[in-house]
Amino acid sequence: MSDTDAIARMQAVFSAQKAAFEAERHRPVPERKADLKKLEAMVKARADDFAAAIDADFGRRSKAETAVAEAGFVIATAKHARKHLDRWAASKRKPVPPTMAPGKAYVRREPKGVAGIVSPWNYAMQLALAPLAAALAAGCRAMIKPSEFTPRTAELLQEVLAGLYAEDHVAVIPGGPDLAQAFCAQPFDHLFYTGSTPVGRLVAQAAAANLTPVTLELGGKSPAVIASDFSLDEAAKTIAWGKYFNAGQTCVAPDYALVPRGGQRKFAEAVMREANAMWPDVADNGDYTAIVSEKHHARLSAMVEEARQAGADVLQADFDPEKAGNTRIFPPTVVVDPPLDSALMREEIFGPVLPVLGHDGMEDAARFVNERDRPLALYVYAKSKPIARRFLARTMSGGAAVNVPMLHLSVEDLPFGGVGASGQGAYHGEAGFLTFTHERSVFEAPVWHPSRLVFPPYGRMFEFFKKLQAG
Ligand code: NAD
Repeated sequence: MSDTDAIARMQAVFSAQKAAFEAERHRPVPERKADLKKLEAMVKARADDFAAAIDADFGRRSKAETAVAEAGFVIATAKHARKHLDRWAASKRKPVPPTMAPGKAYVRREPKGVAGIVSPWNYAMQLALAPLAAALAAGCRAMIKPSEFTPRTAELLQEVLAGLYAEDHVAVIPGGPDLAQAFCAQPFDHLFYTGSTPVGRLVAQAAAANLTPVTLELGGKSPAVIASDFSLDEAAKTIAWGKYFNAGQTCVAPDYALVPRGGQRKFAEAVMREANAMWPDVADNGDYTAIVSEKHHARLSAMVEEARQAGADVLQADFDPEKAGNTRIFPPTVVVDPPLDSALMREEIFGPVLPVLGHDGMEDAARFVNERDRPLALYVYAKSKPIARRFLARTMSGGAAVNVPMLHLSVEDLPFGGVGASGQGAYHGEAGFLTFTHERSVFEAPVWHPSRLVFPPYGRMFEFFKKLQAG
């Protein structure tokens, strides 16, 4: 399909979804639960097909990591939403001030309408279907624009969702950046974008033209900071896991580590040891994921080479790409003290490369973090809870975890999102439901309401009301 045809189809689907929403408006909760149940059942039934598509798109994707981070994640999300939907969707009574009594105040939680979801390649199934589950829970209709870097997964998403829902309810619109741009220009009732910060800015601009509310799930450099009371060997275990899971292509992967100064080399060696133990022989290890494209692979190589040329110490697992027969494998890598103006320390790495730098205490580490863009996640390792909490109080990030990376994302009831350059808005659990929900405030007065006593001409009752209002 040409770009023009794809854009025309996309616009037709948008109009159909708009009309269907206007006709139905408030999708009953039992039907939303059925929508979620269908999604859950489909993901269970087609998990292997998705794993195969993602594996083909990546050139190798760990089956175990796909199972937990894609299908498993989506099933848990949909199930959680189904379980709590009655409470989430119920109107919320609010107290009425004495000057307004008698009368009833409440918030109706209503579906916003038609949602646009733009998803990236790194968890191509999860990041399309978890926002979809939130939109369906809220009673919205949704159009998904999956990433062009994972075309097989996009095709499968289109096929399976077309089998589950009418096109005026849920539709997948595959395509590249041109289509994505046209997609974001539609007057959606909510636009939900996951991807890089530079493209996030364009999405926000496109949404602003329509005053479309937007959720931006972006990236950034998420630091892992180790306090001097925490064992470097212990920290290395979980940081290696977080960094090399999906070969570092995770938005909340620890981007770089700050360790007490003098410990950089010891920590780097510990991380390599742990990486080699978790993913031995990466050339031939089905659990070690490849880089999504040659272009992304070349970018990582260039970043490491730049740091090496500048004199940084590079530790890398042994690996022969020719022997592996897979040129997109990038072995676990640690770079000790790269220059702060190198690409490794300027850009989000999004690959299996961990820069390690020294800090001179937690205040110094907080200063380092605060001088940079607000990260999506922040990890602090400290045996002492007060040290960890003081560090959290001194910094800001979308989310955070103490003594382990990434796991805050799996607690359904924790809102997940960025702040500043790492994004705006949140989802997961009730936060996801609310993202796609309009909270409509209602005040219901009886036929005769005492407020009439203070209508003009203003007299004694008005003076009495003024006093009552001021308390
Ligand atoms: P990507 O290249 O797949 O792009 C994401 C989506 O944006 C795709 O669907 C793409 O077609 C679309 N797009 C491209 N150009 C566009 C334009 N001009 N207007 C509108 N849409 C456009 O993925 P990526 O951006 O490389 O993703 C990686 C980034 O995403 C990293 O920065 C990562 O941290 C971030 N990320 C964030 C989260 C999160 O939850 N916060 C999750 C995963 C990834």
